[in-house]
Amino acid sequence: MTSTTFSSLPLSLEFLANLESLEYTSMTPIQAQSLPVILKGIDIQAQAKTGSGKTAAFGIGLLHMLDAQTYLTQALVLCPTRELADQVSKEIRRLARPIANTKILTLCGGTPIGPQLASLEHQPHIVVGTPGRILKHLQKGSLKLDHLKMLVLDEADRMLDMGFYDDIMLISEMLPIKKQTLLFSATYSEQIKNISNAFLKDPVDIQVESLHDDTKIKQVFYEIQKNDRTKTLISLLEKYQPESSVVFCNRKQQCQELADDLWQRGFHALALHGDLEQRERDQVLTQFSNKSSSILIATDVAARGLDIKDLNAVINFELSPDPEIHIHRIGRTGRAGNAGMALSLFMASEAAKVNAIAEYQGIPVNIESASSLKSHENFKLIPPMVTLCINGGRKDKIRPGDILGALTSNTGLPGNRIGKIDLFNTQAYVAVEYPIAKQALKILTEGKIKGRKFRIRKL
Ligand code: ADP
Ligand code: MG
Repeated sequence: MTSTTFSSLPLSLEFLANLESLEYTSMTPIQAQSLPVILKGIDIQAQAKTGSGKTAAFGIGLLHMLDAQTYLTQALVLCPTRELADQVSKEIRRLARPIANTKILTLCGGTPIGPQLASLEHQPHIVVGTPGRILKHLQKGSLKLDHLKMLVLDEADRMLDMGFYDDIMLISEMLPIKKQTLLFSATYSEQIKNISNAFLKDPVDIQVESLHDDTKIKQVFYEIQKNDRTKTLISLLEKYQPESSVVFCNRKQQCQELADDLWQRGFHALALHGDLEQRERDQVLTQFSNKSSSILIATDVAARGLDIKDLNAVINFELSPDPEIHIHRIGRTGRAGNAGMALSLFMASEAAKVNAIAEYQGIPVNIESASSLKSHENFKLIPPMVTLCINGGRKDKIRPGDILGALTSNTGLPGNRIGKIDLFNTQAYVAVEYPIAKQALKILTEGKIKGRKFRIRKL
């Protein structure tokens, strides 16, 4: 029987105290099975479901072997998307708090290369990024990995889905032979085996039950009539009133149409899909995570790897034809032990998809009739917060405290009614409670931040 307490691992007291402050009281199954092996320096290939805590599994492993006194790049984490890379960096930063001066750099495509080149003038300890951009830096010589000690391939199957096979193989040829490699993937395919043969030495195989334990996720399928999708969706929002939900569609065009439609009906719904520009994506994710938008409408590609805290519900507006993708989707709710809901709409003609899911899960599905759902004409799901957008950011040397100060000092607005503050290079976003949004907008518009006037608008 493997122990599930972090203190059973050879970690320093400071490190354990930090885990406790993150409220990581015990190891998740993947952590309990993989960490003892990782900490011994052995290669692993691990298979585990979404939300099982893989990031901390490799994050703790790589911080443990890191020599923070030596300013050389010692660990590389490859991720499929920029969002995922950002989340991994964030998690590693939180885990690294007890280790002074740990430098972590995120290198992804879709952002200008100039600032990345500047950041690479001093070697970071840890690099997290997407394969295309990492390869580019390796080929340019801007990223030096001669002293790499650990390589992590996170969501390897997703990286392959996104067409990164060749890039990953080219990267592998440019890395030192002697290093530890950790490969994480939800599924195994021929290509994954090729990758694992190219990268791993005598790996230990780790598998954690890949299906969700149904007590955490309440899953219901609703049979609908043709043309009743939007109406049923709204009834479900009324019935369950989820504070945060992701609604899945199969195509990006459908996402946008549904978002526009819900918006017209007075819902704060935002679409997340591949056609958005980076700034639009940041804006959508910021509003969703600070609770000023309660409905995120996404395609599978766009939502890949997102770890959004406190997701109350996943709603399948359209069923995925692939039962494995269905499992990925619903894995976004009920994370790390919280209760979640997965609600799926289907038409009688799609019964085969429902059966495929039931078979894949190995448990019968719970089907209810959509006609029993009630809805009221004027129902609105009002998010608890409102986002104000400021046309200044890190480049203007604005810090979160400056914004909080502008809102609360000598204004009568209490700090506890101000929510998350997100800073980007040229923009900042602050969430404020819905009832004080007007007042906050007025204060910021008429006042100054760091002695300067900024343009403020309500999103
Ligand atoms: P995965 O990469 O397997 O999909 P993540 O690493 O994103 O999952 O973890 C999912 C969530 O669980 C994150 O919010 C993370 O902070 C949290 N988490 C990870 N390990 C623990 C733990 N031991 N105890 C409590 N929460 C944890
Ligand atoms: Mg992950």
